[in-house]
Amino acid sequence: MPTIRSELCPLFVDGEWGPSSASTSEPVYNPSDGTVIARTPLCGADDIERAVKAAEAAFPGWAETPPVDRARVMFRYVHLLETHFDDLARLVTREHGKTLAEAKGSVRRGIEVVEFACGIPSLLMGESLEQIAPGIDCDAIRQPLGVCAGITPFNFPAMVPMWMFPLAIACGNTFVLKPSEKVPLTAIRLVELLHEARLPPGVMNLVHGGREAVDALLTHPSVKAVSFVGSTPVARHVYQTATTHGKRVQAAGGAKNYMIIMSDANPAATVDALIGSAFGCAGERCMAGSVAVAVQDAGDRVLPLLRDTVAQLRVGPTDRDPAAQMGPLVTQQHLERVKGYIDAGLSEGAELFLDGRDVRVPAAPNGFYLGPTILDRASTQMTIIRDEIFGPVLSVIRTDDLDAAIEACNGSGYGNAAVLFTTSGRAAREFRHRVSAGMVGINVGVPAPMAFFPFSGWNGSFFGDLHIQGREGVWFYTRQKVTMSRWG
Ligand code: NAD
Repeated sequence: MPTIRSELCPLFVDGEWGPSSASTSEPVYNPSDGTVIARTPLCGADDIERAVKAAEAAFPGWAETPPVDRARVMFRYVHLLETHFDDLARLVTREHGKTLAEAKGSVRRGIEVVEFACGIPSLLMGESLEQIAPGIDCDAIRQPLGVCAGITPFNFPAMVPMWMFPLAIACGNTFVLKPSEKVPLTAIRLVELLHEARLPPGVMNLVHGGREAVDALLTHPSVKAVSFVGSTPVARHVYQTATTHGKRVQAAGGAKNYMIIMSDANPAATVDALIGSAFGCAGERCMAGSVAVAVQDAGDRVLPLLRDTVAQLRVGPTDRDPAAQMGPLVTQQHLERVKGYIDAGLSEGAELFLDGRDVRVPAAPNGFYLGPTILDRASTQMTIIRDEIFGPVLSVIRTDDLDAAIEACNGSGYGNAAVLFTTSGRAAREFRHRVSAGMVGINVGVPAPMAFFPFSGWNGSFFGDLHIQGREGVWFYTRQKVTMSRWG
């Protein structure tokens, strides 16, 4: 059973669950019905100090643990995650609101990172070259960094934390996780299961809170590396503050992902992909396609079918209605913010093609619901195109050719995903070559890389050098030592 022993979420420090010394807390909601299901303590510097000290003390022993034994913890963890897979997904749905199918998909993606971490002995292998000069050999090995910190957003309560700590720990580091204050419950369960996998005390620690907790981690002299995922302004702040304090940083930010539709695209397949990308997880996804650029007559070929299909989506309480196809937004405040963007789009001249604001969910009238919304004939100067909305709102721009579409996309300032729908190989090649984004989809609506590839945002979507996941993830959590040997 999950460790929710009181309403206030516990911390996990040095292998023990216990209370925070914070005097303030924030509510955690079940967004499906608006009820408060827990409270997140807003940890201050003293809680962070305890967690970092525990991680620091555990580091030498864990770093000396053979990689194969560290891998065995990960194998046991995979087994426990599989055993509790459905419960974890239900917890994600309960505190975030995405559908159970979406929650399961995200937990699966997280488990894949743990599976990747099971291969750590091979992933950590170095390089060597004999006889670089007469009688001299050279080799490069990888060693862990020390205490690493992870700071995560609300939209993937299981997957994003799992992008970080399994690989960091498998590499021989110790870890302090600070999940989003909006969704702390899944993180508690993930840490509990990791402990059950017989990870030594102090290797994994969990704290809670917001800015104060984050800033204490970013400036703590014993924290060697920071992994961050969240919005662009906070990612920039994290990168600047932590690098100023001498830390290695990977900070993934927000996004504005363009989906360009050529007039030769297959309409039915394109509509399918657009729905998943723009409205999946109620648009609360850093890979969500939030701008569709319709080239020539593509808009008229695709948009009516898109609207007719999307209008049928069942919006409802994902925690109790298995037929719900789209869930609520995470909080009332976020719902109001997204509605504010729809108002801004209309006042700046976009056309309302599908209005989700009047959605009614009689089974859960206090949930934070917004139906799928489409704003047509937007332009690149509008707020709805410049800002990340992070809700089920698709804005449509119309252009005459692929050049203009790529130019609009590259002007966004972000660079997470960019997608092209076409049956032309020439257009696909042109797009991949010229588009300024790190994750490209060709007839794929959500080109999210799997665990063995880097999650490869560019521009304002990423600050740092080494991305999360894949070999870059291993490189991020280790440093190289090069040795030259002469034995006479
Ligand atoms: P957020 O930036 O508000 O919060 C992220 C984390 O930073 C949380 O743990 C929060 O407590 C902390 N935080 C918030 N404000 C802070 C501040 N002023 N100083 C220090 N720490 C602060 O993001 P969110 O609303 O939780 O998540 C949504 C955002 O995350 C979206 O912008 C989305 O695109 C982005 N995201 C990006 C990726 C990616 O891979 N690029 C993946 C998932 C989500």
